[in-house]
Amino acid sequence: MNDKCAEWKAESDIDFSLYGTPLESTTYKFAKCLQRRFGVIPGITDKGYITNSYHVHVSEEIDAFTKLKFESAFQQLSPGGAISYVEVPDMQDNLQAVIRVLQYIYDNIMYAELNTKSDYCQACGFDGEIQIVEDDGKLVWECPKCGNRDQDKLNVARRTCGYIGTQFWNQGRTEEIRDRVLHL
Ligand SMILES: [Zn+2]
Repeated sequence: MNDKCAEWKAESDIDFSLYGTPLESTTYKFAKCLQRRFGVIPGITDKGYITNSYHVHVSEEIDAFTKLKFESAFQQLSPGGAISYVEVPDMQDNLQAVIRVLQYIYDNIMYAELNTKSDYCQACGFDGEIQIVEDDGKLVWECPKCGNRDQDKLNVARRTCGYIGTQFWNQGRTEEIRDRVLHL
């Protein structure tokens, strides 16, 4: 793919580059297109999202250090930029572990982040992780303390494309967020 970029660059005098990204909305769009084209194939096109770029699948049981090391090899092939992440629980009481991971990132990979949860329910004051529950085939966000599902009264922040978003996501991306395993 980098060879192709070099070829197009020479042809057009426009700079093309490879970018290793989770790419926000295409995970859902591409998944739907693949299902239309190839049908639902178990383990391949059976989800509402696809895994873009070189990222380890969100549901794979893998520890933070192994994931970062594995993905670092692909960042070298992404001269246009690259984003890796590890999914972590609330780390406020374990700052030593945070520093360990940051040091590992510094030593091993160009660009990586910690994904943590800092949600808030305006209805009851709950401060923690708002849950995703299934309601009649649809995924909805729900406060685990008071059951509030009103999105106008929930603050949910998740990192979805290098940036932390609070906009509530399409069904495919919500499914992907629900399927994420913790790496620490
Ligand atoms: Zn609540």
